[in-house]
Amino acid sequence: MTASADSSLIASSLENKNLIDKLARAELVDMVPYQSARRLFASGDNDQANSKTWLNANEAPGTGKYQVTSENINRYPDFQPQALLSAYSNYCGLPVENILATRGADEGIELIIRSFCRAYQDSILICPPTYGMYAISAENHGAGIVSVPLLNVTQRDSAQPDCQLDLDGLKQQVGKVKVVFLCSPGNPSGNLLPTAQINAAIELFKESAIIVVDEAYYEYAATKEVANSQLITQYENVIVLRTLSKAFALAGLRCGFTLASKAVITLLSKVIAPYPISAPVAEIASKSLRNDLAVMQTRVEQVTILREQLSHWLTKQHWCCYVFSSDANFVLFRCTSEADKNRVFNLLLANNILIRDQSKQLQLDNCLRISIGSEAELTQLQKLLDTL
Ligand SMILES: *Cc1c(COP(=O)(O)O)cnc(C)c1O
Repeated sequence: MTASADSSLIASSLENKNLIDKLARAELVDMVPYQSARRLFASGDNDQANSKTWLNANEAPGTGKYQVTSENINRYPDFQPQALLSAYSNYCGLPVENILATRGADEGIELIIRSFCRAYQDSILICPPTYGMYAISAENHGAGIVSVPLLNVTQRDSAQPDCQLDLDGLKQQVGKVKVVFLCSPGNPSGNLLPTAQINAAIELFKESAIIVVDEAYYEYAATKEVANSQLITQYENVIVLRTLSKAFALAGLRCGFTLASKAVITLLSKVIAPYPISAPVAEIASKSLRNDLAVMQTRVEQVTILREQLSHWLTKQHWCCYVFSSDANFVLFRCTSEADKNRVFNLLLANNILIRDQSKQLQLDNCLRISIGSEAELTQLQKLLDTL
């Protein structure tokens, strides 16, 4: 190849870069993708990843051991593997016709937005501070985003409970949005929304919008007597999201469940990929749901003890001015100043302990979130921070 051919190739590849930007949907060019805990600290190097203590993505500590059979790996899997659906049906108490298995709860979020929101016409509603993927999926699809912030996240009014729904604010959006995302227990706040508030929101939107109750942390919630999944038998417009990523310690598997009326499941089934659950995923998930419920329950109990210990310890630290109550496997707390927030975060980071900085979220100035890892990991964290 001659030198001039070489340089013209380079020139055309530079132009190609512009070409891609020109061809792309303009709003995606400058879009920032979800800053997952893994993306923020990806090293690509497994040894380095293993030397870090990951307390930033609400994963469960400890490793799993599963064997998979590969006999039928030459065949496409069922669209919805029956063994998996019936295992989840047993677990959640709903018939299989009300369940859709997805590639994590995240795929459920995306499917709901794509199924109900017309691009560049319809909007979703979120109640920040909340889980980031609702807005990211909406942006990806070209759906609008309306925010009705949670009330009293900053605890300015000590007579009022924190992190509640703004029902008056929600009422003003009736007729203007197609999908409302509620997260309970909330991420990153950690609190359960009162059942009465969820019911009131459903009533407000029962003729005009889908209400999604994201229950990714359902298993960690202390009060489960009113299982939100039962709501879907009463209301056609309610969808509940669940996952195996948190309490079942299977974040790497990518398996979640959308619970909804038959009409909703039928609709989502038109939008989802033809083989969303790979055979090994279905096999491991079904085994876990059938055989590991007691293990999961023990994990939840252990996490709850460690969470209460950590929360109590945090309340006594001079750099911490508020600890949010949690019904999940993490604790959110507010530092006394931005400088203190940075000192806590950076001391841990320098020692390879990763926690999540939530201070960029609406109403969460100076807030950090710690996932409940193993007892040893949390002891190490506390020892380090004792030196501050
Ligand atoms: C972790 C999480 C999810 C996503 O779960 P996956 O099943 O891993 O996709 C959804 N919602 C909330 C609130 C979460 O914290």
